[in-house]
Amino acid sequence: MQEKNELLRKLPKVDELLMVRGIQLVEQEYGHTTVLLAARNTVDELRAEILAGGRERIPSDTELAVQIAQEAQRMSSPTFRKVINATGVVLHTNLGRARLSEKAARAAYDVARGYSNLEYDIGRGQRGSRHSLVSSLLCELTGAEDAMVVNNNAAAVLLMLAAMAAGREVVVSRGELVEIGGSFRVPDIMTLSGAVLREVGTTNRTHLADYQRVIGEQTGALLKVHTSNFRVVGFTQEIELAAMVELGKSVGLPVLYDLGGGLLRPVEGVSIPGEPCVTESLKTGVDVVCFSGDKLLGGPQAGIVLGRREYIERLKKHPLARALRVDKMTLAALETTLLSYRDEDVALRQVPTLQMLAAPQDELMDKAKRLAALLDFAGGVSVVEEEGQVGGGTAPGHIIPAAAVAIAASVMEPERLETQLRLWEMPIVARISRDTLLLDVRTIDEDDFGTIAACLRQVLDKEPQA
Ligand SMILES: *Cc1c(COP(=O)(O)O)cnc(C)c1O
Repeated sequence: MQEKNELLRKLPKVDELLMVRGIQLVEQEYGHTTVLLAARNTVDELRAEILAGGRERIPSDTELAVQIAQEAQRMSSPTFRKVINATGVVLHTNLGRARLSEKAARAAYDVARGYSNLEYDIGRGQRGSRHSLVSSLLCELTGAEDAMVVNNNAAAVLLMLAAMAAGREVVVSRGELVEIGGSFRVPDIMTLSGAVLREVGTTNRTHLADYQRVIGEQTGALLKVHTSNFRVVGFTQEIELAAMVELGKSVGLPVLYDLGGGLLRPVEGVSIPGEPCVTESLKTGVDVVCFSGDKLLGGPQAGIVLGRREYIERLKKHPLARALRVDKMTLAALETTLLSYRDEDVALRQVPTLQMLAAPQDELMDKAKRLAALLDFAGGVSVVEEEGQVGGGTAPGHIIPAAAVAIAASVMEPERLETQLRLWEMPIVARISRDTLLLDVRTIDEDDFGTIAACLRQVLDKEPQA
């Protein structure tokens, strides 16, 4: 106790620390306020260590200056940063969903760093519209008459309902009243849009006659929602889009379709059972469809709306359009992502989401072997065949073969290793299965293998030898 009090008395004052030689240089780099806060944190931490009995002496001024510099650097780094996704889940909602292609990321960077023709018609030298930037490309790729891009697909659904059916009823099957993520629920979005929900059928079965029965003067539109994050199995019946479109035509009502994930076009090796495809859906003659930019499309967060010109015009003119509009970096990344889609083979080569989903099992096993070889120093490292998933909210229950590097419990207790990897300066998010830590290589960039090896080496070096 005596010693602790002695040490606490000797604890340096923050003011004094700011006079230590070398601190001026740290201030030049990070600024006075940051260094002041860093010095306070350093002293606080030292005090806590003394009280916990973990200190026998006060570090020298030089040592403290180094600690302050490290703390200032930590405080000046963004908390929002890159992580390594070793879960194998390609569209991981918590880890930022789709990864952009190199070209798409660069396009966003370029317009972010400079001025751009966001709302400027270069040919005419006058004001232009941001809506026109990607709409003709979207139409070319999908065969739609017109297109519009908003902030995300939730915004697209909201705008679509508000512009097409505010004050009128929208008929939806009970089995399609989904909740996606924390707060996107179809009934709530409907209320917010000013449209009136008219549920038909039951959770597991809805027939065309159910729709027909409720259509009347008050009806504004028919809506189909892709149940992208759950699956009802067994005795079910959902009305095919084509049948709904036919019904809509016969009664003169627009048919709207929220596709959710939306694979833009068929791509060899990326067929996911039950996942709708944008071009195929449009072929049915559906009036308006919407889908996410950062699910199967593999682009930035965005909501893409395609459909008949008169309806898309109505959406563009709606007051909500301004509130939901998309940023220039998004448009740049989206256009460049879409440019990869003219040819299937180019899309597969350039769009990381497609590439990762299409990766064949033998290629993944080879990739896992290369990572395992780099981690071999740890002992207890092996390659295992696993089962993976496309995403949290995309293609539920669809299992794809996967390959992972397994680090046995004998190397380090799995929960502890999982934590250490996650808290690393470049966080590595892994999963544990059957008391083994798994690094699923489908979602790991080969360029990050070295980082993973360096991390594991340091984690094991720090570990007290058993
Ligand atoms: C994911 C999804 C949404 C929400 O899309 P965001 O781009 O996340 O806003 C809406 N509807 C369906 C059916 C979805 O799958």
